[in-house]
Amino acid sequence: MANENLKLSSPVERETYLLGLLGQRLEHTVSPVIHEAAALEMGMDLYYFPFEVEPDDLKQAVLGMKALKFAGANVTIPYKEKVLQYADEMSEVVEFIGAANTLIFRGDKIIAENTDWKGFLRSWEEMGMGSVQGNFAVVIGSGGAADAVLYALVESGLGRVHVFNRNRKRAEKLLDKFTTKYPHLLSESYFLSDETNIAESLKSADILINATPVGMYPYIDDLPIKLRDDINSNLRCYDLVYNPIKSRLVEEMEKRNRKAAGGLGMLIYQAALSFELWTGMEPDLVTMRNAALNALVSGG
Ligand code: NAP
Repeated sequence: MANENLKLSSPVERETYLLGLLGQRLEHTVSPVIHEAAALEMGMDLYYFPFEVEPDDLKQAVLGMKALKFAGANVTIPYKEKVLQYADEMSEVVEFIGAANTLIFRGDKIIAENTDWKGFLRSWEEMGMGSVQGNFAVVIGSGGAADAVLYALVESGLGRVHVFNRNRKRAEKLLDKFTTKYPHLLSESYFLSDETNIAESLKSADILINATPVGMYPYIDDLPIKLRDDINSNLRCYDLVYNPIKSRLVEEMEKRNRKAAGGLGMLIYQAALSFELWTGMEPDLVTMRNAALNALVSGG
């Protein structure tokens, strides 16, 4: 006999959110579990699929999601920049950074957003990393993530930055863009192999950012730079690497009694901000964090 109390709501009665992640090499992504755990806790119908897309298929993938009434998508390496050409609208920040990690399909429009920079700032604040006003930062890397974090820091009052990258031209280009918009910003670019200038910069830097994948699972013993002991005693380090949860760089900083944070907070906050853009609802951050921790511990 049918249970009278059991009422199943069909997807027609409830809103169903279809979401996806566009990128390559997504085998270790934790984004699906973060979003689906938050939705489950809120009693929402939300499905988040990782889609590994070939470069020549990116346009079809984006337009296909729109045609299938997806609510939105996240975009990751290597498509954060390339995807902008398919957007009908983008915020000023996306235009400046030149990269989006979030697409929103609204009406017949594809809107590009970047939640990485705000996600970084929220995590920075949550971790009690302190004021950035007038600070000097050393940034390792010059990709989309370095761009978003540098934007967050400069908007928070950063005074000076030294960027180190394997491809120095890319670092130079990044800094040209920033100093055009923020002429007060003092900046220098260097090759990542320039150990002398790294050591010299870290003697007085207030902030160290790792925005490269160096140290990410499975290469967990790798360090993006050689560390000496004469680094500034007030240096605070933020490593965007979130798998492992505590990277070797964070461990080395803590050994030297410097404040250091890994990238899990940024991962959670950028996800929460994207979730809000797609659904108009605030997800529970603890649920998202626990889902990520569980997936990282069991998967990576
Ligand atoms: P990207 O645009 O591909 O840029 C990668 C950067 O890392 C470039 O500067 C690249 O240098 C450098 N790099 C790559 N492999 C390297 C190696 N073996 N040694 C030294 N440098 C290397 O990627 P992205 O979007 O900026 O992301 C960078 C990292 O941040 C990734 O690991 C990503 O997972 C992480 N991330 C974390 C969060 C978070 O929420 N925690 C958010 C965004 C990104 P070249 O220019 O010389 O190639």
